[in-house]
This record gives sequence, C-alpha cells and structure tokens, in this order.
Amino acid sequence: MRLLIVEDEKRLATALARGLAAEGFAVDVAHDGVTGLHLAQDQDYDLIVLDIMLPGLNGYRVCAQLRASGDETPVLMLTAKDGEYDEAEGLDTGADDYLTKPFSYVVLQARVRALLRRRTRSAAPLLRIGDLTVDPGARRVERAGTDIALTAKEFAVLEHLALHAGRVASKAEILAHVWDFAYDGDPNIVEVYVSALRRKIDVPFGRRSITTVRGAGYRLEAGGGRDA
Ligand code: CA
Repeated sequence: MRLLIVEDEKRLATALARGLAAEGFAVDVAHDGVTGLHLAQDQDYDLIVLDIMLPGLNGYRVCAQLRASGDETPVLMLTAKDGEYDEAEGLDTGADDYLTKPFSYVVLQARVRALLRRRTRSAAPLLRIGDLTVDPGARRVERAGTDIALTAKEFAVLEHLALHAGRVASKAEILAHVWDFAYDGDPNIVEVYVSALRRKIDVPFGRRSITTVRGAGYRLEAGGGRDA
C-alpha cells in the first residue's frame, strides 16, 4: 500500500511518514499543495493524508481538483485547530474523513486503517490463491488454515503479488507499490523479500506458489504443486 502525505509542517510530515513506513506502507511526502497535487496525479496511491492550510494550493483545492478529474483515492484531511476548518466544506470537496490537530499518532493510524479497510472491503475482501488466504484489511495471511507471521514489508510484497495473482509482476512494479518514491537502493531488494516469503508461505507447506519468470518478475499462482 502506498500513501501520500501532503503537509507543510516538516517535522510532523516526517514523523507521520516514519510511523507509517514502519508499518510497511510506502510513503511519499510533499510539503506544498502544487507538488502534492502533481504527485497524486502521477502516482497510484491507496490513500492521501492532506493538510488544509498549505502553501501554493490549499488542501480543499487539491482534493476538489482530484475529484473533478475522477480520482477517487481516499483522502484524510488534516486541519490546524478546531473551528478553523469547516467539516462540511471539507467533505463537500470530496474528502473521506478529517482529523483535527493536534491528534495522536494512534488516532491517525486508526483512521488510515479504517479508510483503507473501507476501500479493500468494497474492492477485494479476501484474496484467495489456492489454500493461501491474504486478508488486506486485517493484514493476516494463512495457508491451509495455519496463520503465517510476516513482517510489514513481506506482507506488502505478498499483497501486491496476490492482488495480481496469475500474472507476472515486475521488480520495478513491486518496488513502485511497496517502496516509496525516495527509495533509490538496489532493486534486487525485491528478491530478498521474495526469498523470505518463499521460506514462510511455501517451504513449510511443500509448495512452490511464487514462480520467478526470468527477466520479467514474479508470479503467484494457486497451482504451485507440492514438492513432496
Ligand atoms: Ca499546514
């Protein structure tokens, strides 16, 4: 899952980005409305955290422009203090929820999760690939009824493969959805995570559900026969 934070208070933006990244989200940050709008239009985000009082273009206008162009990415609006912000106006511009500063990180995290759940529930409640079940809302994975513990990043990679089960996902595509804009490290990091996933979701169950397609990427399939 990839998130965009548009917030001009840099310390707050950095703190939110760190917290959400630690949970396995890919997070991009913009510090003004114009940059935020451009990123939102260019990239494929699962959710946008959008401050209202922003230099350049305010959050209301960013949200209104996105909605006017048919972009339905969930938007969680932030406001500086109670009263400055008219909730009705924010929701009129197409925001899905709002949060008044100061807020605790725990509350923000809960709202983000709630919005993402609302979205995944309407789109794909549970992803089933054979006897492998990936639950994006609860962030749980099980194979043949056995719970599998994954790290946040491992889950994010598996979730992407599961959303596109049966077709090849390239390393570049996985990087774009799971790592953030600022990641400029080795794309082979994807291999490391795929290997870790195999050790957890396949090997103990005698399966080979993640296929490496040379020069193309990875494919998750139900087939992936038993080794033994
Ligand atoms: Ca602000």
